[in-house]
Amino acid sequence: RKDSVKGFLKRNLFVLFTVAAVALGVILGFALRRHNLSMREIKYFAFPGELLMRMLQMLVLPLIVSSLVTGISSLDSKASGKMGVRAVVYYMVTTLIAVFIGIVIVMIIRPGKGSRDSPVAKSGNIEPVQAADAFLDLIRNMFPPNLVEACFKQYKTVYKKIVHTRNVTVTVNLTESLNITDSSLNVNLTRVLHTIQEKVEENIPISGSSAGVNALGLVVFSMCFGLVIGNMKQQGQALRDFFDCLNEAIMRLVAIIIWYAPVGILFLIAGKIVEMKDIAQVGGQLGMYTVSVIVGLLIHGLFVLPLLYFLVTKKNPYSYIGGLLQALITALGTSSSSATLPITFRCLEENNHVDKRVTRFVLPVGATINMDGTALYEAVAAIFIAQVNDMDLNFGQILTISITATAASIGAAGIPQAGLVTMVIVLTSVGLPTEDITLIIAVDWFLDRLRTTTNVLGDSLGAGIVEHLSRGELQSQDDEVHNSVIEE
Ligand code: ASP
Repeated sequence: RKDSVKGFLKRNLFVLFTVAAVALGVILGFALRRHNLSMREIKYFAFPGELLMRMLQMLVLPLIVSSLVTGISSLDSKASGKMGVRAVVYYMVTTLIAVFIGIVIVMIIRPGKGSRDSPVAKSGNIEPVQAADAFLDLIRNMFPPNLVEACFKQYKTVYKKIVHTRNVTVTVNLTESLNITDSSLNVNLTRVLHTIQEKVEENIPISGSSAGVNALGLVVFSMCFGLVIGNMKQQGQALRDFFDCLNEAIMRLVAIIIWYAPVGILFLIAGKIVEMKDIAQVGGQLGMYTVSVIVGLLIHGLFVLPLLYFLVTKKNPYSYIGGLLQALITALGTSSSSATLPITFRCLEENNHVDKRVTRFVLPVGATINMDGTALYEAVAAIFIAQVNDMDLNFGQILTISITATAASIGAAGIPQAGLVTMVIVLTSVGLPTEDITLIIAVDWFLDRLRTTTNVLGDSLGAGIVEHLSRGELQSQDDEVHNSVIEE
């Protein structure tokens, strides 16, 4: 009995540390709130948390590339094709279910009904993104013209505003603003428009790019690259060995960093609690909106996804989720599914013993494009904003929201609050005011953590499902390797 307790403690040491870190972080955070720390002091205090984020992010790039290249090149193209199709079907089906749950919940709870709680301040820092341009950006990002640039830049359309008047056409570069920010231009424009009343305004897309890893581009490239070197037989062996070794080395680094994770998580959580505005003030419509998102995420994460896992694999989904606890808590602490990726890998491979050929293939793709939590939240937020504006949505508009929320979740990067930015696509697609995003910003940091956790859960259960469905191919691949070893 003593041995079994010891064994249990040893196996679950990290998980216990991590859970304790969350509890301590919450206690410490609330205790420090009384001391009214300045923003500078809070930043210093949360520094160990910032370090964890940086360490994890440091590993993400080489991890995505090396795991995809080795994952795909170690499978024959037929097997990787089948696995890829299964993963994509799972991603699409679960994302659409998540959106559906979100829509049903927000329609039932109706958090935005009644008159507006607060007037909306016109937001100056949200770009007028058009849905069509956002779709094109998604595809553009799949094909980065420069791989090095893709490691730190994503493509994002920026706009020029053209004002046509009877005699004059004025072109203004829109940078970060909905309005024309340059005051001198503003004065000139006003004078022009005052004298000549007739005007037509138009935003035209021009090229542009923004900071942040273009994970989608790297995923597409690594998949194609892996496929090619997988088919190169003996000639490709050196490259396959290189990426295999790189992957192994990165995973060893993960094994070191994981010791530091509980400390980082403690400070990430405590820092956020010290910094947050008084939650007691979040009442009324915003409170009900928060409840709607949480209920939706809980239904999806705790019932729907586990049920799907059980129906496909006939295994206990909750013991599988138990093995993921550390990844889920890291997602909660970091608000970033891509920063959590190294830990997700470890949990799946070490605790749940998912085949590496599957995790290497589906986890990086999932962390980049499969975001059930984000899709659900986008749908709820868009309909909430429609309710606040007293706008009755017809079936077509709800369908449009479902499709754009799915696309927006695919396009969102796995970084904190990326979903808030891609929200603009959903709102513009049905003519809702983008400045109303300011209504939900106050609670977004919190909902972001919950949706990120759901995103990571979705990716991980997906890996288990794809592994189960691909056992035939994996087995025949094993047999082939076995036979060739015997022949040699
Ligand atoms: N933070 C989320 C993630 O990393 C994305 C989002 O903002 O919804 O998965």
